[in-house]
Amino acid sequence: MTHDFLIIGGGIAGISAAARLAPQGSVLVLEAEAALAHHASGRSAALYEPYYGLPPVVDLSMASGDFFRALDGLLTPRGLLLIAREDQRAAFDADLAAMQYLPIPVAQACEMIPILNPDVVKMAGFAAHAEDIDTDLLIQHFARDARSHGATITQKAPVSAIARTPSGWRVDWPGGTAEARVLVNAAGAWVDRIAQMAGIAPLGFTPLRRSMARIPAPAGLDVSRWPMVFGPGEDWYMKPDAGALIVSPAEEDPQDPHDAWADDMVLAEGLARYEGFVTAPVTRLIASWAGLRTFAPDRVPVIGFAPQDPAFFWCAGQGGYGFQSSAAASQLVGDLVAGRTPALAPATVAALSPARFA
Ligand SMILES: Cc1cc2nc3c(=O)[nH]c(=O)nc-3n(C[C@H](O)[C@H](O)[C@H](O)COP(=O)(O)OP(=O)(O)OC[C@H]3O[C@@H](n4cnc5c(N)ncnc54)[C@H](O)[C@@H]3O)c2cc1C
Repeated sequence: MTHDFLIIGGGIAGISAAARLAPQGSVLVLEAEAALAHHASGRSAALYEPYYGLPPVVDLSMASGDFFRALDGLLTPRGLLLIAREDQRAAFDADLAAMQYLPIPVAQACEMIPILNPDVVKMAGFAAHAEDIDTDLLIQHFARDARSHGATITQKAPVSAIARTPSGWRVDWPGGTAEARVLVNAAGAWVDRIAQMAGIAPLGFTPLRRSMARIPAPAGLDVSRWPMVFGPGEDWYMKPDAGALIVSPAEEDPQDPHDAWADDMVLAEGLARYEGFVTAPVTRLIASWAGLRTFAPDRVPVIGFAPQDPAFFWCAGQGGYGFQSSAAASQLVGDLVAGRTPALAPATVAALSPARFA
């Protein structure tokens, strides 16, 4: 059977695109793993922070807010706290402005997070606008929406060959083959490899590893309402998570695409940076993991038809914003494929277009 749209990748990018394309034609999603969201989409910090990232990313995240708010229970209040030592003023001031934090007294920050060390923390800023995203709920919402419009989502289907045909594409995986009019490349860290398989020039995406540790909450403390805490210059962060804390060294180490795991040394250094600000030492790890945040050379997502082939669609480079930008990003996929005037401003659409690399 020939599909209208074949999407490679069962993470948030591919599944949200499927939901937007299924009302326009037949959709087949191919995902290599046995479960959706196995890679980056299963490893995120699950935050909606609309001021995070470069201007086109902020546009996408802002434009996603109404969609998220309309889904019951998807967003819940969290808040962001930025803290710094005396010698970190320059980085603190830069973050304060970029992410629209309001300066607050250190004593107020210590009331929010009683384990902060007031001998070390000398500056603090707070942003109420950051919220938790229920990432599982969001993926399930898009998957259900896609299936309700007839989309097929096939797991355990690692695409191994892609050939151009006169009318579109033939795509093979062990045990299957399918044809489609339009190929949507939403393969996360693997997007350049998929492009190469299809004979499309890669754009130079870089997967950057980010590690994460889950540690027990300090004894006797209910952490559930604590805000997320950032060190200045994003060199570590901590977030309450299901009764425990997750701490990330917030590293950006370039990697080849693979099933990422945490680097113990990088994790230890990040935990030490976190420990430098608190009075409760890290006693043990409950778990650790890592994911790849994949960026285009200019750190802006790439959404649009390849200039060299109108049957190849890029949906790539979601970096550290794939969930919070997903509603507007997938809407743009739907608009461009339908040939509609995009809901986003023309300058934003141009900034996201693969034509900028042509
Ligand atoms: C530690 C960490 C924290 C983060 N925090 C946040 C956050 O707070 N907020 C936020 O919005 N974002 C956050 N992100 C970013 C977000 O997780 C990513 O932007 C998003 O998950 C990318 O989605 P994706 O669908 O592009 O990639 P993926 O989820 O990696 O999906 C791509 C899929 O393509 C599949 N695939 C690849 N090759 C093939 C093939 N040949 N055949 C079939 N399938 C294939 C893979 O198996 C994979 O499942 C974070 C990321 C990390 C790692």
